[in-house]
Amino acid sequence: MEPIQATIRIERGRIQSVEPMLGGVRIISEAGIDFYPDCWALPGFVDSHAHIFGLGSRLQGLSLYDAKSADECIGKAIMHPTTRGGWVVGMGWNQQLWKIKEYPTVQLLDLVFPDVPVYLSRADGHAAWVNSTALKIAKISASTRNPTGGLIQKDSNGNPTGILIDNAMDLVRKHIPLYTEQEHIEMLTSAAEHCISHGITEVHDMDVAHHLLPIFSRLAERAELPIRVQSYVKAQGNEWMKEGLLPAVGEFFRVCGLKYFADGALGSRGAALLEPYSDAPETKGLFLLTEKELYRKAKVGIEYQWDISTHAIGDAANRMVLNVYERLRKEGIADPNTILRIEHAQIVHPDDLYKFAEYQVTAAVQPIHCISDAPMARVRLGKRCEYSYPWRTLRNSGIAISAGTDFPIESADPLLGIDAYVRRVPFGEKKSWFEKECITRQEALFSYTLWAHEASGMSYRRGIIQPKYDADIVIHNKNLVTCPINEITSALVVATYTAGTLRYKNVTE
Ligand SMILES: [Zn+2]
Repeated sequence: MEPIQATIRIERGRIQSVEPMLGGVRIISEAGIDFYPDCWALPGFVDSHAHIFGLGSRLQGLSLYDAKSADECIGKAIMHPTTRGGWVVGMGWNQQLWKIKEYPTVQLLDLVFPDVPVYLSRADGHAAWVNSTALKIAKISASTRNPTGGLIQKDSNGNPTGILIDNAMDLVRKHIPLYTEQEHIEMLTSAAEHCISHGITEVHDMDVAHHLLPIFSRLAERAELPIRVQSYVKAQGNEWMKEGLLPAVGEFFRVCGLKYFADGALGSRGAALLEPYSDAPETKGLFLLTEKELYRKAKVGIEYQWDISTHAIGDAANRMVLNVYERLRKEGIADPNTILRIEHAQIVHPDDLYKFAEYQVTAAVQPIHCISDAPMARVRLGKRCEYSYPWRTLRNSGIAISAGTDFPIESADPLLGIDAYVRRVPFGEKKSWFEKECITRQEALFSYTLWAHEASGMSYRRGIIQPKYDADIVIHNKNLVTCPINEITSALVVATYTAGTLRYKNVTE
């Protein structure tokens, strides 16, 4: 994939013709002619694993991503004007970024919030920090047992510390009132505008709750959605069956996949590993589904024509999911048109790698996780870092890796992901981390465009600038393949088009 300079003619949202031209990009459509001198065009970027409402609430709600300590989180919580139905709800803290790298405590919250329930989720979404009022509402006490796939952290006296991991989070979360419809529309709109300003024309939205789907379709129907959204709905608890939900097709909004979780995250030691954690020899992490359960759930899903998408971070989780997908292919349950995705595919044991190509498994990876996780991964994984975030290896095994960011956990900016792909230099460090796993800029661009469309079955009409393809186009002021490598992240998105309509224009250009 190379950026181009050309005259691109568009009609009814599709590309009609592409004529190479020196000196810039000219877009000719029903709306008129736009000329971008010295600029370069690429197919619109796809974020193939993200959380749109998460981004919306990060942009509009209580955001703790930048907090440098537990006290700073509390400070921000006090300052934040709106509470959700009487609750203080925030997201984004990460004790790994603090001076004291320990989990914050229930006591700290209780001092400031003695009566109002507080629920603050960790940046990776796999842990929550709550106060005593929230624990009381959820009826969690010293005698409450851990739910399956979850942990209620307790102190040496057996009392809850206010930290809930994975499935234990639900015990409190289910008591938090939902946002109103108007709040949802505002969140969706602000997230979509944020994406389009970064050149993202399509998002694979993960783990979507069914009650949010009508908000997307309403905006799509009114043509108020500037990006395309492919929904992968919550399915861990068979939610789609209970709601009678089926796949649905639309130009801007499509409901196409079921989202499962095989394990948790590395930061909270929830990722399921084959061998114990290097820094916690007593644990190998947590499986959130058994192999049998995932097989059964996926099988029913495929019968109803869903694509299957499963979160797997640890090498044990990846092995388990690959085993399930292998069986589904071998038994002919998943025909070649059924998309089987592994989300993250962070730690893959070398023995299992071949299965991605052999059984047509799509790896949806987040390059930016690698460069922000590196310091933590070194401690958790030790020698296993050797086969973690294995992009080059996955490419060499013959598969197309699909890129995303998992926003709002990470920045939505695809240029940071491309930079991570090609340089692999952890934040705050100078040297490449396992440089052998870097991929080329051309591959990185494929991963953000055509290969990402492959991951949702849309590559037959999206991801290339050529006639008959959808006119989803991003225009940068630099050629991302030939510019100096350290200038990738400072390239500017000059304009973004979805379905041939100008959705974003950088006014400073
Ligand atoms: Zn995610």
